[in-house]
Amino acid sequence: MESEIRDGDVARDGETPAANEDVARDIDNIQVLPMVALRDTVIFPEMIVPLQVGRDRSVKALDRAVRASSPVALITQRSNETEEVNSVDEVYTIGTLAKIAQVIRLQDGTIRAIVQGQKRIRLLDLVQTDPHLEARVEMIEDAHSKTLEVEALMASVQGQIEQYVTSGASVPPEVVVAARNISDPGLLADMVAYSPDMTTEQRQQLLETIDVPDRLRLVSQFLAKQIEVLELKGRIQSEVKSEMDKTQREYILREQMKAIQKELGEEDPAVAEASELREKVEQSAMPDEVKEKALKEVDRLSRIPSASPEQGVIRTYVDWLVSLPWGTYTDDNLDLADAEKVLNEDHYGLEKPKERIVEYMAVRKLAEKIRSPILLFVGPPGVGKTSLGKSIARAMGRKFVRMSLGGIHDEAEIRGHRRTYIGALPGRVIQSIKTAASANPVFMLDEIDKVGMDFRGDPSSALLEVLDPEQNFSFQDNYLEVPFDLSKVLFIATANMLDTIPPALRDRMEVIQLPGYTQLEKLRIAQNFLVPKQLEAHGLGDGQLTLEETALVRLIQAFTKEAGVRNLEREIANVARKVARRVADDSKVKVTVKATELEDYLGPARFDYGELEAEDTIGMATGLVVSDAGGDIVQIESTRMEGKDEIILTGQLGSVMQESARAGLSYVRARAKELGIDPESFGKETIHIHVPAGATPKDGPSAGVTMATALASLLTGKPVRRDLAMTGEITLRGRVLPIGGLKSKLLAAHLAGVKTVLIPRRNEKDLVDVPEEVRSQLRIVPVETMDEVLAEALIDRARPAARIKAERAARQKAAVVRRPARRPIAAKAKPALPVPPRPVDQPPATQARA
Ligand code: ADP
Repeated sequence: MESEIRDGDVARDGETPAANEDVARDIDNIQVLPMVALRDTVIFPEMIVPLQVGRDRSVKALDRAVRASSPVALITQRSNETEEVNSVDEVYTIGTLAKIAQVIRLQDGTIRAIVQGQKRIRLLDLVQTDPHLEARVEMIEDAHSKTLEVEALMASVQGQIEQYVTSGASVPPEVVVAARNISDPGLLADMVAYSPDMTTEQRQQLLETIDVPDRLRLVSQFLAKQIEVLELKGRIQSEVKSEMDKTQREYILREQMKAIQKELGEEDPAVAEASELREKVEQSAMPDEVKEKALKEVDRLSRIPSASPEQGVIRTYVDWLVSLPWGTYTDDNLDLADAEKVLNEDHYGLEKPKERIVEYMAVRKLAEKIRSPILLFVGPPGVGKTSLGKSIARAMGRKFVRMSLGGIHDEAEIRGHRRTYIGALPGRVIQSIKTAASANPVFMLDEIDKVGMDFRGDPSSALLEVLDPEQNFSFQDNYLEVPFDLSKVLFIATANMLDTIPPALRDRMEVIQLPGYTQLEKLRIAQNFLVPKQLEAHGLGDGQLTLEETALVRLIQAFTKEAGVRNLEREIANVARKVARRVADDSKVKVTVKATELEDYLGPARFDYGELEAEDTIGMATGLVVSDAGGDIVQIESTRMEGKDEIILTGQLGSVMQESARAGLSYVRARAKELGIDPESFGKETIHIHVPAGATPKDGPSAGVTMATALASLLTGKPVRRDLAMTGEITLRGRVLPIGGLKSKLLAAHLAGVKTVLIPRRNEKDLVDVPEEVRSQLRIVPVETMDEVLAEALIDRARPAARIKAERAARQKAAVVRRPARRPIAAKAKPALPVPPRPVDQPPATQARA
């Protein structure tokens, strides 16, 4: 607490300035005065300042001055650290003479004094240091010569002070007025010492500048620098501020816009969008629980800020829900006669599949709820699996969608990603349903045999859920989160091969085989379907393009090699395109393409189909195989040489095929005596079996008999009939077991010009599927044992060279007449293929079920 003690003998209250002036006038130029050393403060003439005095010697000096009614010498210490000043070196030389206006004694013994600077003084020496400092000082007077220069300097300093204040110096604005009113140049300069920007050192320097013009120049420099600093500071601040202002401005504008929209009765676009979405949800035919979920999401949408990325996520999700065909069903046309008509309109042949499809529809008609199995079309590419699916959709009046499963490894592709993933979408099943825009389309699952499985999950288990009638009424897509009813969807799957379909999936499906077409069937398909289709697609009409029958046959034989008709269709399209170009130049052009002219359109012929060896050869037998391109013939070669290995197998054989080669060898060894083979030869020689033709891996047991025959021929030295082919699995004891794909194999044999085919007896029943055209031209021999095979295949007698030559000549002659399929057709006028006399628009009678 500080209490003011007006100490009569210390402070002289009511002392008038006039009385002090008298004292001042009396003092000599040099005086001895009580002195107070100042810390961090410089007092100027005419300055009235409060002084806090605490050091004992300073208090005593003030006491003394008050008592003697004398002024006091105020001189600043050179260093703040100095506690007690004992010599002149510790203080500056120039100080100020000051009058004491008031002294207040505080309770802690310190003094607050108000002093008023009078004039500059120079410290000469210290008279005493104890009990207080006493200094001998010399008075310094300002010389008042107001030269032009001084006046100019004054004006400049006054201007600078004004600028200094307006630039934002922290001094009261009255300073400007005060400065204008000061006429004393020295005082004007001293006034600048009020600036809080001035350091103690600078003040002391100002005090020490006795020469008035110099003093003015000094403060002018100081002010100029300070103004620059202030302006720079101002610029930086305003830059920062304008950045802040921009965001604030936008915020305010946006708020204002909202207010205006509200006033006009218009809504915030985000809100408007939400309510539009809500309306869509309300109008959609979704089940109630889905609607509830969708509405909840719409609510969330209106609550989150429009800039949030979640907005988009939610909107996409609700859009998906809205766009699905909930409860949208097309009416089924179950008129069987109609359906049959549509199927026949779109496809030639395929009696069995068509019949099965009509049965399937009949069952659905009778019992709609019945759980009919899913149809699975198996067959090589281009045999019409997809187009049959489309026909079914057309016949029933349903929408058609297809989804390829080839190469799908990730379960999420079928079932979708959870919505928490960035860019998540529903799986392909739901996407296809959206495309179909109906909840009961015909849904084709293509290439179901190519579904993969790895660390990303097992897509086939997701597929199971899709196909299972127990589960698919509430199919769960990860993205949708709500169940979708797939039970009304008619699923049809397609595959090239049965083997690679996961058994659990295969069990649910009814397999319909489409093994491929005979040449005649291909010809009819081309004439009745593919050519008209391509003519229309290329805008050719009115006899502008005619493909002769011989040309089509050659197209089938020499330009395509396939079980289906996809490449055939493509080649026909190629011809049509070239003709269309000519027609575009001249609309009167009419083109008839002959067999010999195909090269002009398509380049050189590509295939030597089904070539047999030219002669009966030792160690080589012809087998029949099926691949996903249909059936084919394969020549199995064997040879022997010196060596310790028992057997070498080459030609990219799978393990099953390798095993049947070994089984064949074991059979031949076991029967060596009966076959007339020297048993000794087995230990010393290496046998090499090679299955040539292409780098494609081959596997399966059905080449067993062929390999055994080749070996038997090799070891007995008896040649194998060149026009004989065989198929069958072999046991160690030489029994012949049944095989698959008989129809395709016989088609290939027929194509290749084989005359005799040995088939396992247990496959005899499958012959009904083989077209009559093929059956009638082949000698088909069912066999049960390897002995029968060898009896048919090996030529027993060694024949003289002359006879072999004669036989070959006769055969070649016969081949020209009877087996035109192997010769280039172009040379001949008649179709190379024996076409039975039958109306072309009717399927061959043999295709009907026996
Ligand atoms: P897949 O699906 O079996 O690979 P596609 O259904 O794509 O074969 O058939 C290829 C082309 O061949 C299609 O243009 C199709 O119309 C045609 N096609 C296939 N089989 C026949 C047929 N029996 N009758 C008429 N056109 C057919």
